[in-house]
Amino acid sequence: MEFCRAVMMGLADDGGLVIPQSIPDVRSRLDEWRKLDYPALAFEVFRQFVNDIPPADLQKLVNETYSEAFPPVVAPVVPVGDVFIMELWHGPTLAFKDIALQFLGRLFEYILLRTGGRLNILGATSGDTGSAAIAGVRGREGVNIFVMHPRGAVSRVQELQMTTVMDPNVHNLAIDGTFDDCQRIMKTLFADLDFKRRVSLGAINSVNWARVLAQIVYYFKAAFHVQAATGAETVRVAVPTGNFGDVLAGWYAMKMGAPISRLILATNRNDILSRFFNTGEYSLGEVVRTMSPSMDIQVASNFERYLYYRLGCNPVRLRDTMQQFAETGSLRVEPSAGGAVDGDFAAGAAGEEDCLATIGEYHRRYDYLLDPHTAVGVSVAGRLHEPGHPTVCLATAHPAKFPEAIAKAIGRDIARHPAVSALAKLPTRCQSLPNDIEAVWQFILTHV
Ligand SMILES: *Cc1c(COP(=O)(O)O)cnc(C)c1O
Repeated sequence: MEFCRAVMMGLADDGGLVIPQSIPDVRSRLDEWRKLDYPALAFEVFRQFVNDIPPADLQKLVNETYSEAFPPVVAPVVPVGDVFIMELWHGPTLAFKDIALQFLGRLFEYILLRTGGRLNILGATSGDTGSAAIAGVRGREGVNIFVMHPRGAVSRVQELQMTTVMDPNVHNLAIDGTFDDCQRIMKTLFADLDFKRRVSLGAINSVNWARVLAQIVYYFKAAFHVQAATGAETVRVAVPTGNFGDVLAGWYAMKMGAPISRLILATNRNDILSRFFNTGEYSLGEVVRTMSPSMDIQVASNFERYLYYRLGCNPVRLRDTMQQFAETGSLRVEPSAGGAVDGDFAAGAAGEEDCLATIGEYHRRYDYLLDPHTAVGVSVAGRLHEPGHPTVCLATAHPAKFPEAIAKAIGRDIARHPAVSALAKLPTRCQSLPNDIEAVWQFILTHV
């Protein structure tokens, strides 16, 4: 399948996820790639997977994204204590999701200008995804975006990041219900094929292949940086994980030949993924609320992609296994000969106390503020320390997005960022709607 079609489609027609036909081996290019700046490296990585955009156009899209939206550097790496921290929050909404969604917004516009079509994106958010998606498509030609959030149930900063956007193609819908209600409305509308065609409904959630692709780039960048700084042959990358999108990008980077020895998969108390990599058992639990809300997830939507490879690239086995999971709420993968579920990963979970203690420790000892998601990764990486193997921890959000957690961890409300402070003074725009499919349906029809 062509790349652009996969991007516009999101999910495959049978409900499955699209994956690349093959994973390119780039080992012979590493010495050349390590000299590139972020936009140039992104172009080289994207080129391995994009078959239907002329190279000059792709280069322009990538340059615009990574030289405009992330001033002054896309993903700086700083040494802090015993680890390196790669700050992925230098985009407009201060969370790592900008790195993929700033590209995706521009890519949608490019494709729609070429084909003359329009796209109406519908999403449901409990926080970070909605604001980053809105920032990615605001003001872009050919695209409208409708984002539902549970009224009064997203954090103050996240709500303002969404509702202070005044572009006419952005519609915030505050639903009188829970996040699950928002998701149910979304699923029902997507299942209405007549409606879906009529308004060309699109999705922007983390199963979109372009989002995974855009995240592969910084794993190479991280590994090159730490190699240069330490002289080590390979590095470990610690990733705070929810939907398995970010860490899956890391796994692709590893398979392509990035000098990464292991991915440290870190979850909060919603630990379905860390349990899986320690026991081989993937079994559903209750979602509990934590101070790292973007990781409060049980069914990880990108896990199916990984499972395809883990089950020997056998689509029939994958289908049977997913079917079993749908019916029983659990599935099992046999550990390999060495006893590990997968040697590419080491996994662990951090509870609320671990998270608070880690934020406190890094502030006290190194004068560095971790956001609660990043702290989960740093905490687990510290526990799974391997002597002689340098570790880079991905920082997925700026601490000013989560001021309550910071105040709780260090006793004072000191997490600040000018972009967050500025929000309080801006006008807001948001439509309140009842928890009702018909109402959302009507709103979209009158605003496309
Ligand atoms: C979305 C998010 C995560 C989890 O990323 P996944 O790709 O879902 O694993 C971690 N931290 C922050 C701040 C996020 O917004």
